Amino acid sequence: MPSATSSSLDIVVIGAGLGGLAAAISCALGGHKVTVLEQARELAEIGAGLQITPNASRLFQQWGIDKVLEPLAAEPTFLAVHRYSDGKVLALQKDFDKKIRAKYGAPFLDLHRVDLQKTLAQRAKDLGVKLRLNSKVTSVDFEKSTLQLDDGATYEADLLVGADGLWSKCRAHFLKQSGKEDAPLPTGDLAYRIVLNLEDLQDPELRQWVSKPACHFWIGPGAHVVAYSVRGGHQYNIVLLVPDNLPPDVSRSSGDISEMREIFTKWDPILNRFLDNVKTVDKWKLMHRPELDSWVSKKSNFVFLGDSCHPMLPYLAQGANSSLEDGAVLGNLLAVVKGKEQLPEALRLYENLRKKRGEAIVRETFAQRNDFHMMDGEEQEARDKLFAGELGKDEPEVKFPSRWTCPVVQPWLYGYDAKKEVDDALRGSSLVQ
Ligand SMILES: Cc1cc2nc3c(=O)[nH]c(=O)nc-3n(C[C@H](O)[C@H](O)[C@H](O)COP(=O)(O)OP(=O)(O)OC[C@H]3O[C@@H](n4cnc5c(N)ncnc54)[C@H](O)[C@@H]3O)c2cc1C
Repeated sequence: MPSATSSSLDIVVIGAGLGGLAAAISCALGGHKVTVLEQARELAEIGAGLQITPNASRLFQQWGIDKVLEPLAAEPTFLAVHRYSDGKVLALQKDFDKKIRAKYGAPFLDLHRVDLQKTLAQRAKDLGVKLRLNSKVTSVDFEKSTLQLDDGATYEADLLVGADGLWSKCRAHFLKQSGKEDAPLPTGDLAYRIVLNLEDLQDPELRQWVSKPACHFWIGPGAHVVAYSVRGGHQYNIVLLVPDNLPPDVSRSSGDISEMREIFTKWDPILNRFLDNVKTVDKWKLMHRPELDSWVSKKSNFVFLGDSCHPMLPYLAQGANSSLEDGAVLGNLLAVVKGKEQLPEALRLYENLRKKRGEAIVRETFAQRNDFHMMDGEEQEARDKLFAGELGKDEPEVKFPSRWTCPVVQPWLYGYDAKKEVDDALRGSSLVQ
């Protein structure tokens, strides 16, 4: 365990989601005293799949949890994009797992969110982080560097980290200082989230799809589907992304299976065979938020990360990955900070490194929607022609409508190395003089 010294900062992280726990681990590794406040009574036992890309799995290596997580994951051996109606393969990358490891030095892991959150929480605790459950933050005082819980308890810290997700209370208090407010906005889409157990599937072909990990997309008019194995091929995660028909004030509800099936009746028969096995499904409204002017408080005693400041569509699987990047960059910068008088410079660098990238990823997720959700017609035919021109090649060679294998977007996303970014930014900074 790194030892806290007299120059250690007191850091309080609000929210034990993936971003908050990443920040906690990274800041603790940097030698600081960290407390995480989480409103939930326990870390959820429920959840669904999560695709972790090399920009984040690289961090697991740095945090010493890669060997714990890799056996819990499934590593897709190929990635296929299918036409919605007949399953025709539009794009295919074979040996996806090997190519990703060779290119980025870190794997593409399909994990269950619960496994990831628990592993991060355990690592944080092992590093001396205090994890306080049942601790709901109700207000933040940016002048005094304090916050209050719903039971009246008060915490003071050198740095408060707002990692409280899409519905961030911290964000409301932050904006209130300048007389502003905002709220999560509908993206127009919702997600049906499904997890199937291998042991419950009888159909041999479906069982093979689950036990031989791969990542499949079906793309169609106004909707798409992503499906992949998790937990070593013992579970299958399917997400159906469709137009939002939830009432404006409902962000999550249990889904109606017949309504869900109706949307996909004309889609690939194998997808429908999977859907035949669905017994329960959840429906999530997909939300985003306007960009903030700044992620750092005027007194440099508060900073945002994750969904609280850059929530996005899950169409590139970057929400959690970019939150983990945020946490890593923050901790790596704070590792060279010797006292709170250096926080303004450290947080300035954090915002420089993270805000532009986080917001650019958000925009890219909307661009991916445009390319995946095209109505049948001329534009879609041109897209599919572009796909067809690259089919059979080892890797696509042109800017590609599926950013998952695009030679421009994929390296920008997966090649990001939080440690290197910080090392480069610190060169010449007053923090290391
Ligand atoms: C359908 C779907 C599929 C997705 N798939 C992927 C994927 O494959 N890959 C990927 O990278 N991302 C994916 N995402 C996105 C990802 O889940 C989020 O971006 C990520 O979890 C955000 O992490 P976070 O820590 O910022 O916020 P959260 O995970 O929302 O965590 C916030 C935490 O703060 C706590 N909290 C909130 N308010 C308070 C308070 N007042 N006091 C104390 N605690 C509080 C909450 O209880 C929660 O634990 C997906 C999202 C959806 C909807």
